[in-house]
Amino acid sequence: MTNPLLETWETPFGLPPFDRIEDAHFAPAIEAAMVEGLAEVELIAINPEPPTFENTIEGLMRTGASLDRVLGVFYNLAGADSTDAREEIMREFSPKLAAHSAAIYGNQALFSRIEQVWLARDALDLTPEKARVLMLTHRGFVRAGAALMGGDAARMKEIKGRLATLGTQFGQNLLADERDWQRALSEDELEGLPGFVINAVRAAGKERGAGGPVLTLSRSVIVPFLQFCPNRALREEAWRAWVARGENGGKTDNRDVAAEILGLRHERAQLLGYDDFASYKLETEMAKTPDAVRGLLMEVWEPAKARALEDAALLEERMRADGVNGPLQAWDWRYYSEARRREEFALNEAELKPYLQLERMIEAAFSCAHRLFGLAFKPLDVPLYHGDARAWEVTRDGQHVAVFVGDYFARASKRSGAWCSTMRSQRKFPDVQGPIVVNICNFAKGDPALLSYDDARTLFHEFGHALHQMLSDVSYEMISGTSVARDFVELPSQLYEHWLEVPEVLQEFATHADTGEPMPREMLDKVLAAATYDMGFQTVEYVASALVDLAFHEGEPPADPMSEQTRVLTDLGLPQAIVMRHATPHFAHVFTGDGYSSGYYSYMWSEVMDADAFEAFEEAGGAFDAEMAEKLERFILSAGGSEEADVLYTKFRGRMPGVEALLKGRGLAA
Ligand SMILES: [Zn+2]
Repeated sequence: MTNPLLETWETPFGLPPFDRIEDAHFAPAIEAAMVEGLAEVELIAINPEPPTFENTIEGLMRTGASLDRVLGVFYNLAGADSTDAREEIMREFSPKLAAHSAAIYGNQALFSRIEQVWLARDALDLTPEKARVLMLTHRGFVRAGAALMGGDAARMKEIKGRLATLGTQFGQNLLADERDWQRALSEDELEGLPGFVINAVRAAGKERGAGGPVLTLSRSVIVPFLQFCPNRALREEAWRAWVARGENGGKTDNRDVAAEILGLRHERAQLLGYDDFASYKLETEMAKTPDAVRGLLMEVWEPAKARALEDAALLEERMRADGVNGPLQAWDWRYYSEARRREEFALNEAELKPYLQLERMIEAAFSCAHRLFGLAFKPLDVPLYHGDARAWEVTRDGQHVAVFVGDYFARASKRSGAWCSTMRSQRKFPDVQGPIVVNICNFAKGDPALLSYDDARTLFHEFGHALHQMLSDVSYEMISGTSVARDFVELPSQLYEHWLEVPEVLQEFATHADTGEPMPREMLDKVLAAATYDMGFQTVEYVASALVDLAFHEGEPPADPMSEQTRVLTDLGLPQAIVMRHATPHFAHVFTGDGYSSGYYSYMWSEVMDADAFEAFEEAGGAFDAEMAEKLERFILSAGGSEEADVLYTKFRGRMPGVEALLKGRGLAA
C-alpha cells in the first residue's frame, strides 16, 4: 500500500494531501516514522567523530522529520474532527509515543555527546541563536533526568510513575465526589429561579433518573444556582457541598494524595539538583523565581482586597434590605452580586449579537493584522479535512508568509474550547518551511453566523497565537513561534484581544446583520463595563489560590497541606465572604498533573503583560502606531523563543511590565 503520509507532498504550499489521506494510513505511518526517528538518533549517538554543534545538536534537529509531519496532521484531526478510529489510534499511540520520547531522553551515549558540546560551548563561537538551542537542548535532557546515574535514575523513574498515578487518582476522586452528590429539589424550592436554571436542574434530575429536579455539583449547575437561589439556607447547603469536593473522608478524600504529591515533587526537584520544586519549575519561565511571582501577586492583592471589601459592604446592604442580619457569607456573595449586576450593568445579549457576525469579525482580525504588520489574506481553494475548514494564503508585499486555516463551527467530532495549532511550524533549518497555522473554535452555525462578545474575543485571541506562529522568523523549529515560556505564551493572544475593543475597529466591522448600522457607542461602553464587573471578588479568589500554590512548592513540602493553606490565607487576611477559587482538595490545575503546579500564577502574569503592552501603543500614539507595531513584530512575534522572555519584553517595552495597566483594566486602580 502506498501511504500518502510518508510521501513527499507535491501539493500547493506542501499542504497535507487531505483528499488522499485515510484513517488506515495513520498507524503504519506513525510506526514507521518512530522506527526511522530512533534509527536517526542512534546514528548520532554512535558517531565515531568527536561531538560538535553540527553533528550533535543540529544533527538531532534533522531527526524525526517524518514523525513530526505525520503527527502534525494526526493531532489536528484528532482534536478538530475526531472519529472512533482516530480515538483508537490516540489510545494505542499515546503510551508508545511517550516511550519513544523516553528512549531518546534516556539514550546515555547521546546525552554524553550533548554534554561534551555543552562543556565546550565557550570555545565554539556560536551565534546567539545556536547558543540558545544548545542551552535548551542540554537543559531539556538534564530536566528529564538524563544526567542521573544508578540508584538516582531508578528512583526518578519510580517517582515519575507514582506521580502519574497520584495525579490520575486526584482527578478521579474529584470526579467521584462531583458525581456522587445530589440534592433533590421540591417544586417549592424552584421558586424564584430563572427558567434556564430550572431547566438545568430538571435536566440533571432526568439524566440521573431521580424522578424530579436535582441540584448537582457540576459547575454549569451549581454556579447559576448560587447566583439565583433566593433561599439562603438552601444556598448554604449547596455551597458547603460544593467546597467540600475532595474533602469528604473515605476513599475519595484528596488531602493525603495532595501531601504525597508535594513530597514527591520536592524529592524529584532535589534529585535534579534544585532547592525545591518551585525553583525547578520556574527556571524555564519568564518569572524565574518565586519572589518575582509573589511580588507581582502581592501588588495586585492589596487593591483587589480593598475593592472586594467595598463591594462586600454594598452587597451586605442589599442583604439587610432583604431582612437578613449577620455578616455577608460566602454563600451570599454570588446571589447579591448577581442582583446588583442585573440592576447596574445589564447587557442584552440578544440585542448585541446581530452586530457580531462571524464573517465580519474574521475580516476585522485580518484588517488589524494588515494595518499593524502589512499582512494580506487570500482565500485558497485546496482540499482540507472537513467542509467547514477554510484556508487563506497569507502574504506580505507579494511574498508568501504562511497558510492560515480557520475552522470555526462547533460539531460533535470537535473537542470543546478553542485553540491554535500548526500542521507545520516555521523554520529555516534544515530546510526553509513556511508555517501552516490552524485556528479552531466552537461557534454556533447560523445564517449569518452570529457571535457573542466572548466568542469574538476568542476569535481575536486565537488569531493572536496564529500571528505568533505566522510571523515567526527563526532558524530552528525548537524555538519557533509559540515555543516560549508558559507564562509568556499568552502575551500575543491576550494582547490581540485589545484590538477588538478599539472603537474604530468595532465601528467598521461590528455592523448589524440586517441594517448594516455600526454598533452604537452606548452598547460598546456597556460591553466593556460588564467585562470588569465584580473584579474585586474574582481577583481575590484567584490570587489566594495562586499564592497557596506557590507556598506549597517553595522550601520543604508541607506535611499537612491543609494547615499550610490556612496559614497562607490567614497571613493574607482573606475577606470573610470569599474563599479560594480552588481549595487544595479540588485544586485540579495543581494536582492532576504538572502543567500548572507552581504555575497557577501565570494567567495573571500574562494579563499584566498584555495590559502593559497595549498601553505602550496608547502611550505612543494609538492602537495602530507603526513604530510600536514594528517593535512588537521584531522583538516578540518574530522572535519565538530565541531569547529569554524577560529580555524580549524589555526590548519591546524598554522595561519589565508593571501592574498599573492591569489594575486600571480590571477597574482596581486607586
Ligand atoms: Zn491562549
